[in-house]
Amino acid sequence: MVENASNNNVSYFDFLDTVVFREWENREAGLLAKHIQRSKLPYTKTIHDFDFSFQPSVSEQRVKETLTRLFINRILLGPPGVGKTHLAISFALEALTQGFTALFLTAEEMVAECRKAESKGTLTRLINRWSRRPDLIILDEVGYFPFDELTANVFFQVVSKRYEHGAMILTSNKSFIEWGKIFGDDVLATAILDRLLHHSVTFNIKGDSYRMKEKKKAGILFRHKRG
Ligand code: ADP
Ligand code: MG
Repeated sequence: MVENASNNNVSYFDFLDTVVFREWENREAGLLAKHIQRSKLPYTKTIHDFDFSFQPSVSEQRVKETLTRLFINRILLGPPGVGKTHLAISFALEALTQGFTALFLTAEEMVAECRKAESKGTLTRLINRWSRRPDLIILDEVGYFPFDELTANVFFQVVSKRYEHGAMILTSNKSFIEWGKIFGDDVLATAILDRLLHHSVTFNIKGDSYRMKEKKKAGILFRHKRG
């Protein structure tokens, strides 16, 4: 770049300006890469990779409106394969791009982390970390199996503490009515939902699994019919 600058007779100030800007750009890119890595997203897909025509129950406009509203909770409900995790990741990537931090974990991982922390005597530290640190927490697959009592209580505390200052994204295959079963307690589930839904948007996705579409296309399903 130095050679280029002297060849093109660029003023020292312009040269410095370019260097500083590039340095800033690199640092921003480095920081974003670090934040993406720390967020533990299972993969990176964006809204641009989402085929809205395949899933008409998801309003493209509503998703786009919500994309930049980083301080509200977003809850994605629906059967398997309809794109809940994909959309949750898209929301998370937008937040990360804007310089926020995020943490992705499944409900199963949350249970495992709670148990591990309890056995090590670090549960309070874990609750404090989840309550304050990442600007955004993405909790995936709520409802595939019930939370144990410990995790249900930790989750309630985290939701209560994050309330008003740190958004969450949840995906679930269960409707809200069934959340009592997930948390093993209707009163606790109601208290959790009360806080979660206060500043929130819910996407109720009803439709076919995208995974099935791909399998059908690849001829993996219904192959026996042809033979
Ligand atoms: P869910 O979390 O609802 O079970 P996923 O988000 O994991 O479903 O989606 C399953 C796979 O299908 C992923 O690879 C995802 O990227 C893809 N997918 C789902 N819906 C769409 C869609 N409408 N357009 C493009 N890809 C999709
Ligand atoms: Mg999923």
